[in-house]
Amino acid sequence: MTERRIRKIVGGSVAYDGAGVKLVRVFGHEEVKDFDPFLLLDAFDSEDPDEYTKGFPWHPHRGIETVTYLIHGQIAHGDSLGNTGNILDGGCQWMTAGSGIIHQEMPQAVDRLLGAQLWINLPRSSKMTEPAYRDITSDTVPVVQDGQSTVRVISGSYRGTAGPVAGDYVRTDYLDVSLLPGVRREFPCDPQLTVFCYLVEGSAHFDRHAGAVPARRAVLMGSGECVSVEAAEEGVRFLLIAGKPLHEPIAWGGPIVMNTREELHQAFKELDEGSFIR
Ligand code: MN
Repeated sequence: MTERRIRKIVGGSVAYDGAGVKLVRVFGHEEVKDFDPFLLLDAFDSEDPDEYTKGFPWHPHRGIETVTYLIHGQIAHGDSLGNTGNILDGGCQWMTAGSGIIHQEMPQAVDRLLGAQLWINLPRSSKMTEPAYRDITSDTVPVVQDGQSTVRVISGSYRGTAGPVAGDYVRTDYLDVSLLPGVRREFPCDPQLTVFCYLVEGSAHFDRHAGAVPARRAVLMGSGECVSVEAAEEGVRFLLIAGKPLHEPIAWGGPIVMNTREELHQAFKELDEGSFIR
């Protein structure tokens, strides 16, 4: 199998969003062409509740999916459709905003909040699909373990083990991988897919020709048939995320991402007029 090489490494920057949540925006607007179909990755890692408990009060989304995965922590959520719940340790909320939801996401005070929110673009044909939530609890996430590696399969599959979802609109693989020091593993990926890895902790080699990549970086991989990762001396924990690019025009206005400016203007007009929720 042809190993993918590193195409780009991004570290993002500290940002404040919602009512004042400190996070790292690993990638967003600037990188959207490279990471298609992924629009944005926000990483949370804090031991200070003052940095995140102001939360993300009521706000709209349309035209995207948000995938919130927590390694540690608790995020209470509620929405305009009447859904409420909590994302807990090892759990994931897969929200299809589709034609529109208004929701709030409120991280609760814990010893350490550790996780990430990924935005997946919806294809033109599904921008206005019916909104939906998938609450993926930790006990429904299969774990593939072999003594030196642990892979939690949130979406897609790994070594024949399928996760609870596969991506209804954009086929998406989402793995949470832990490797002991010096351990190498290969992750076959359809050559058509955009693949990146986000390092949560530790460091690793993602390319036999490059140095170790430190924590809190996203490594965008070039073309090929597999990603080959070797953990450096302290081991590594990373998210491996792959999806099929859409190659469609993007009109992005904050929490709403459509294909044209007209569709964006229409969405904000509907928000003003109170007709946003279908
Ligand atoms: Mn949101």
